[in-house]
Amino acid sequence: YEVKQAGRGGIASYGGDSRKTLARLSLTSKLRRALQREDFVVHYQPIVAPATGALHAFEALVRWQDAERGVVGPNEFIPLAEDAGLIEAIGGWVLNEVCRQQRAWHDAGMESHVHVNVSPRQLRRPDFPSTVRDALEEQRLTPSMLTLEITESAAMLDAERANPIVRALHDLGVRLAIDDFGAGHSSLARLRDVPVQTLKIDQSFLRGVPDDRQAAAMITAIIELGTALGMVTVAEGVTTDAQRRFLVDGDCPLAQGFHFARPLTADDATRLLREST
Ligand code: C2E
Ligand code: MG
Ligand code: MG
Ligand code: MG
Repeated sequence: YEVKQAGRGGIASYGGDSRKTLARLSLTSKLRRALQREDFVVHYQPIVAPATGALHAFEALVRWQDAERGVVGPNEFIPLAEDAGLIEAIGGWVLNEVCRQQRAWHDAGMESHVHVNVSPRQLRRPDFPSTVRDALEEQRLTPSMLTLEITESAAMLDAERANPIVRALHDLGVRLAIDDFGAGHSSLARLRDVPVQTLKIDQSFLRGVPDDRQAAAMITAIIELGTALGMVTVAEGVTTDAQRRFLVDGDCPLAQGFHFARPLTADDATRLLREST
């Protein structure tokens, strides 16, 4: 307590920045410890056909179960993990956990397809494709059971070339999706160069639908673009039935959002999967 008091005084005189730095440092070491203890859990959010609600796949979303703070969402620790060089380890843990779960589902007679989020940092590692291959092989899964969600910018190495690691993942046979499509800055022309099968439309577009005509026009255009390029579009962030109907009218093949289901615990996901097979 004494030390803390003295420390606080000292920090105050240096201003808010060093206090933030200290907070980040302690959070980073907590995160590092959480990784050692595997204090993480994966939740699974259904991706469904908006017309019928039929289950198509799950998106795996990581959570940190902290003894003091309870469940911590990824937005609060993934950016930190990226800065601290811990994202490869956390991403690897998620991948192995998802593959283990898919093997368990398979053994229980249930087929599954799962989307896993991949950080831009993982896509800069030449050994990432072999990490993915090893995770699949360890659980004897076929690569087509997995979709890796990547961001627009990570899909591109630079303005000229698609990322060769993305190409290697494609050659491995896993599916690829562009996440939060429309929120980044990549040009539409570049999309042809990336071997992706799925476009996930950023949830910001759907927020104003159906009242916001411009947002609605954007979604319709992205669905048509995706379809024209032979891709499947997933609308993210569906929260109302009016939004769902809008997507059905626009022939959007897949959707995801709280209106259909929140991210589920593995047990609840298992129950849903059992009901739908
Ligand atoms: P994302 O990949 O775009 O995932 C969708 C996020 O939107 C999830 O938040 C999900 O819970 C939330 N969501 C789904 N439906 C709705 C809805 O109807 N309304 C609203 N407001 N939100 C909805 P979550 O789980 O907090 O994840 C946030 C982000 O963290 C993810 O965005 C993804 O970028 C990242 N993330 C999650 N898991 C991982 C992971 O294992 N690795 C990496 N690198 N990033 C991850
Ligand atoms: Mg995602
Ligand atoms: Mg997204
Ligand atoms: Mg996101």
